[in-house]
Amino acid sequence: MSKLSIAALWIAVMVTGAAAQSYPSRPITMVVPFAAGGPVDTVARILSEPMRASLGQSIIVENTTGAAGSIAVGRVARAAADGYTLSIGHWSTHVVNGAIYTLQYDLLRDFEPIALLPSNPMIVVSKNGVPAKDLAELIAWLKANEGRVSVGTAGAGSGSHIAGVYFQRAVGARFQFVPYRGTAPALQDLVAGQIDLIVDQASNSVQHVRDGKIRGYAVTAARRLASAPNIPTVDEGGLPGLHMGIWYGLWAPKGTPKDIIVKLNGAVMRALADGGVRQRFGELGLEIPPVEQQTPEALGALQKAEIEKWWPLIKAANIKGE
Ligand code: ASP
Repeated sequence: MSKLSIAALWIAVMVTGAAAQSYPSRPITMVVPFAAGGPVDTVARILSEPMRASLGQSIIVENTTGAAGSIAVGRVARAAADGYTLSIGHWSTHVVNGAIYTLQYDLLRDFEPIALLPSNPMIVVSKNGVPAKDLAELIAWLKANEGRVSVGTAGAGSGSHIAGVYFQRAVGARFQFVPYRGTAPALQDLVAGQIDLIVDQASNSVQHVRDGKIRGYAVTAARRLASAPNIPTVDEGGLPGLHMGIWYGLWAPKGTPKDIIVKLNGAVMRALADGGVRQRFGELGLEIPPVEQQTPEALGALQKAEIEKWWPLIKAANIKGE
């Protein structure tokens, strides 16, 4: 290497180091891939305040919707790798979408993992007008109304859609899927009685079930939710083993300096240790991962393992066309 290029490299290292030291010197944008008020948005907004407190800069939550989150994730893939534009998402945006859409980015190669965030199971919920009192009655009603039941989703390939497809197959009756820009607007329509059902992330619906605005039939997990102990599990309700959970995560564009990733990870880990944050997540049925899994490495490893597990299943199931 010539003297000149060594000097150039040295300057580049110094500049990057200085940028990381003064980071963050302006607000950070966290891009939420679904509508405001929904599951991912809620996780982003709960984390943004304690992260602002520890980073000393505000976190702007931006909702960029469409194509089951892949428009938002693509926006972050193309953003500058300077720690000021982050991608919050989950199992469907950062795993499933790669099997369903032809993406303009690579879910593993174009991102740096920052931290694994909480996870939650789904709950099968219906409008109050559905005349079923438990899961067995709901299944009978779905079969009797084959092809006519409207099921809200956050778009083809979203968590609510994939879970809806698996539920449909377990029940053995076809639904009509209705795509929204997130499950917040889908839930509004469910409460208003415009659609019949959602297989929703627990965090989105649990409060409405508790308030009696909608009916909750089953949690897609082996255990009931501590925050809604009256809702049985799928195993108890008659669909044993239909376990589906969604984990969330936070990513930066590929090439973001390591010290910036470390700072962001520290801010997330401090937020996840905060008593108020833990209580809020608990009320919503969101489970915080153990401390050793809150690292960038743990998120990267989980995402890779989930891609290897789910892509063949999703492709074989031909979920795209449903
Ligand atoms: N994440 C949700 C889903 O995949 C949608 C949302 O956050 O609004 O269904």
